[in-house]
Amino acid sequence: MPSGKRERTLVECSACGTAYAATSWPDGKLQPIGTKNGCRCGSTEFREVRYPETAPQEEEAD
Ligand SMILES: [Zn+2]
Repeated sequence: MPSGKRERTLVECSACGTAYAATSWPDGKLQPIGTKNGCRCGSTEFREVRYPETAPQEEEAD
């Protein structure tokens, strides 16, 4: 996977914990998909959810 491209990720609302699919941009921005105006609870703060070894990630090459 070439670097500098956006990736799919998962985020959760930092207020209520609702999870959303999101786009992760190269500049570090997280954009929840389908929730342009933020979480249904009213929060607009999201944090990335990191699953331990579920999603296939690109392998690190030396
Ligand atoms: Zn919320």
